[in-house]
Amino acid sequence: MAADGVPLLPPLREVIAAHGLQASKALGQNFLLDEQLLDRIAAVPGPILDQPAFEVGPGPGGLTRAILRAGAQLVAVERDRRCLPALAELEVAFPGRLRVLSGDAMEVDARAEAGEGAHIIANLPYNVGTALLVGWLSADWTPLPWWSSLTLMFQQEVAERIVAKTGSNHYGRLAILAQWRGQARIAMKVHRSAFTPPPKVMSAVVHITPTAAPEGVALKMLERLTAAAFGQRRKMLRQSLKGLPGALAALEQLGIDPQRRAETVSVDEFVAIARQIGSLEPLGSSVNRSP
Ligand code: SAM
Repeated sequence: MAADGVPLLPPLREVIAAHGLQASKALGQNFLLDEQLLDRIAAVPGPILDQPAFEVGPGPGGLTRAILRAGAQLVAVERDRRCLPALAELEVAFPGRLRVLSGDAMEVDARAEAGEGAHIIANLPYNVGTALLVGWLSADWTPLPWWSSLTLMFQQEVAERIVAKTGSNHYGRLAILAQWRGQARIAMKVHRSAFTPPPKVMSAVVHITPTAAPEGVALKMLERLTAAAFGQRRKMLRQSLKGLPGALAALEQLGIDPQRRAETVSVDEFVAIARQIGSLEPLGSSVNRSP
């Protein structure tokens, strides 16, 4: 134990060697070993002392240690059983602070396991990262979601799609899903050389905090609208939205020019269009319902 009460742990390289954790490409394993960088990532959500946290894919436990050093009460789910002995050592080093689940994060009920208000912090496996994000962003918001914040490492291209502003090349359905009831920003870019082994592309940590859901809009309607609009993103709205009942009438009522293209329509405008279409539907059929 160090003087500041934080347990002394062996370097991550030694942990990897001792437990034979050669990175598996199939499991999206690119490990972070720089503890200062890991502490900076764990600091992105702000103070998390004694707060619940949830991590996907702890691997050898680098980010896990950093989250525990920040004082959170952590639940971590790891699919690779080879990592479990290394993680068990962390459970001992931080008594009562870490619970490791062995399994697939796509099948774990994170809300039930980590608890209300958890901060989700992860260096995500690239193959399930976007699917997990979409699941968290699509959760029930009444008027906020069960989680307090998302701090997630993605390939930089995915990170840019999440935080994209109206009119940019990356702007699309993912940006709208992340931003219509939340703030999304790139907290830091991470060079590929920071990972072992280095991936082909650069990465970035995205930080998302939730805001209250706009009233009178159903996520399902917003998704139908953005799927239609961005399904033909180079076409004018009057063409791309003509198959969506009520959409063209909604544009007219809101004074939105049907000759515009999807990428020029702001998040607020998409929300307004979805609300307007919903209000044209039979009463009670779509308002404020999440899947
Ligand atoms: N957190 C570690 C770090 O930052 O060094 C490892 C990050 S690595 C990019 C992704 C981790 O997710 C790996 O440990 C991998 O085994 C794990 N993983 C992959 N698919 C998973 C899944 N479906 N559920 C849970 N963990 C998964």
